Amino acid sequence: MDVISPLDNSVIGKVKLADKDEIQTQIAQAKKAQKSWGLLTHKSRAEILFKFREILLRDIDSIAEVITKENGKTIAESKAGIMKGIEVLEFATSLQNSDIGGKMEVSSNVYCEYQRMPLGVVASITPFNFPAMVPMWTIPIAIAVGNAYVWKPSEKTPLTAELILKAFKEAGLPDGILTVLQGGADVVNEIIDHEDIKAVAFVGSTKIAQTVYQRATQNNKRCLALGGAKNHIILMPDADLDVTGVGISDSFTGCAGQRCMAASVLLAVGDVDKHIEKIVQRSDSQILGETMGAIITKEQVDFLNTAIDNALKDGATLLYDGRKKQAPNATGNWMGPVILDNVKAGSEAATKELFGPVLSIIRCKNIDEAIEIQNSSPYGNAASIFTSSGPMSLYASQRCEAGMFGINIGVPVPREPFSFAGIKTSKFGHGDITGEHCLDFWTDMKKITTKWNLQKDHNWMS
Ligand code: NAD
Repeated sequence: MDVISPLDNSVIGKVKLADKDEIQTQIAQAKKAQKSWGLLTHKSRAEILFKFREILLRDIDSIAEVITKENGKTIAESKAGIMKGIEVLEFATSLQNSDIGGKMEVSSNVYCEYQRMPLGVVASITPFNFPAMVPMWTIPIAIAVGNAYVWKPSEKTPLTAELILKAFKEAGLPDGILTVLQGGADVVNEIIDHEDIKAVAFVGSTKIAQTVYQRATQNNKRCLALGGAKNHIILMPDADLDVTGVGISDSFTGCAGQRCMAASVLLAVGDVDKHIEKIVQRSDSQILGETMGAIITKEQVDFLNTAIDNALKDGATLLYDGRKKQAPNATGNWMGPVILDNVKAGSEAATKELFGPVLSIIRCKNIDEAIEIQNSSPYGNAASIFTSSGPMSLYASQRCEAGMFGINIGVPVPREPFSFAGIKTSKFGHGDITGEHCLDFWTDMKKITTKWNLQKDHNWMS
């Protein structure tokens, strides 16, 4: 398969797609390799992760260059994605110290203890928008606890996966512990249906997340499927002007809006025109190809333009139109920031995930109206409030229905050991995908009861 760059639509590489035979062979190899990998100590598995970290840091420039070419984001964004992945990696290397289980004398000379067991071979399906970071939410932790991991990266960004695999091999990861299978929906279905795949993690759009979740659970597998988002920011009149301008603008323009944590709806409470002016100024300062990257495909640019036209037909006004911005070339998929004002709650621009640099402003009378609109969204990934009032932020944080909540932060991504995931249709399944709340997903808990005494009389624990 040709790999196409969104920067100019040129062919930048080729990857081999996995066929049925390869999928069978690779999963069989993964199953065999996991048997000895799962019996190693945490410490010896972590040693490979430490080496992998060194290689990533050594090669960060060249990996970031590939991410930028195949995904379109800026080099700074590509590097930030790798660094965020490394945070999860560091958490995974620390599990030997933090995930120490528990042991207790439950009766005289009778002990109970927990032992985490790897599941065996697990799988993960990842989206195009963070070719290194999203896979690294799961790979380090899943293999640190003793699993073998089969990864189906996005067919739009397959080259980064090959580099990550190469880095793991150089770090000494045994063959079969990380397998990359390139392809699309057919490969995903083969993986999900394979009897030796014990768990499936998915990150992508809500429609596919739900399909994958249903198929995996029908096959009696555990599945955690993270879906799409429509993230709301509540803007209060007492918010700091500069923090607001940068925080909200960068949230919807970063990665050209192609982030599941991007702000896409601004709930403007009362008179916040001065703040909105700052958001416009900051958005206007973006330079395509320098501070803002490209959109993944031409079709997605067309989809965004249609959505903007629809919003205007629905009564919204065009407050800022960055589509006229100078593009670095005529062949890439470029779009500057667009800010729609007076968007109606319930309209397409207010409710549908657009996945581009488009901010919809809904004017609200008060904070309760804003919270009501936020909570009417079928999605529940992230929400934020910008305010100088502690009580107001507490009020909103207790009422907004979102898995991740930010106070004066436009992209409220938690840092390990705090875990990442949304609620509602932004997630199917239980638990979170990173941090301390993912461990139960990647392992089974064995309860061991021991009696090492010479007691001869029988009781109910004999
Ligand atoms: P996508 O759903 O189109 O693709 C995700 C993965 O699913 C890819 O590997 C793809 O090959 C595979 N896939 C596509 N169609 C399939 C099908 N019919 N059956 C099985 N697998 C299929 O998503 P995308 O466009 O790559 O990524 C953008 C989406 O991902 C956005 O909706 C964004 O919000 C979401 N996302 C969510 C999170 C999160 O943490 N919730 C993080 C990143 C991205």
